[in-house]
Amino acid sequence: MDGFAEALEQTLNALEALQRESDRPPRASRTALARLQELPRLVRQSKAERLAPLRERVAICTRCPHLVSFRTQTVFGVGNCDAELMFIGEAPGADEDRQGEPFVGRAGQLLTRIITTMGYTRDEVYIANILKCRPHMPAGQSGNRPPTPNEMATCLPYLTEQIEIIAPRVLVALGATAVEGLLGRRESVGRLRGRWHSYNDIPLMITFHPSYLLRDHTNTEKRKVWEDMLLVLEKLERPISEKQRNYFR
Ligand code: URA
Repeated sequence: MDGFAEALEQTLNALEALQRESDRPPRASRTALARLQELPRLVRQSKAERLAPLRERVAICTRCPHLVSFRTQTVFGVGNCDAELMFIGEAPGADEDRQGEPFVGRAGQLLTRIITTMGYTRDEVYIANILKCRPHMPAGQSGNRPPTPNEMATCLPYLTEQIEIIAPRVLVALGATAVEGLLGRRESVGRLRGRWHSYNDIPLMITFHPSYLLRDHTNTEKRKVWEDMLLVLEKLERPISEKQRNYFR
């Protein structure tokens, strides 16, 4: 039983004892009582069960009408709902929009390589984005654009809820948009990476977005990302081989 479930059980026991033993039993509205009775069921639900209704809400979201008419589908997230490690990217690109899964294009293939080099499989971690819809491009233009502050603010409550349910031990923000979404500040990733930050009490590592590594092929930049991932592995108390320590040196 986790801390929340234990606290809830103790509260319910205390209320029942009050009801049994006190001359003036506690009073509560019908609505408050109904909510309280609903809680143990919620606590018993698995993370996958708690994520499912959120995924459904996202799938039919129309809060950004300009994105709704442009998207093929929403891209909720993928991986293990009980993951200890969660990666946050920017927004779906064309490939992700078509397949309904984050990080499946070229940058995604690189992210998958980083994940497997760390010793995980893609299904052992969880991957999501700041935005659940592909940022639309003006008619006749291809490519991708970063989300606007307004789009981010509109979509962020979904990610907040998603992180709260998954409750990973470590979060990794990939690139400046992920940092802006999570920490509310626009700063150079080069200055923020390589040390621990925190998002709602969850240790947060900031590193370059894989698409940056696709543009800059030098081992120096790859090594920086790798050093960030070594810090993540240390925080998660994962074994690190000599070979792993020396990648991109
Ligand atoms: N880049 C991102 O930030 N997210 C994706 O899902 C794909 C590319």
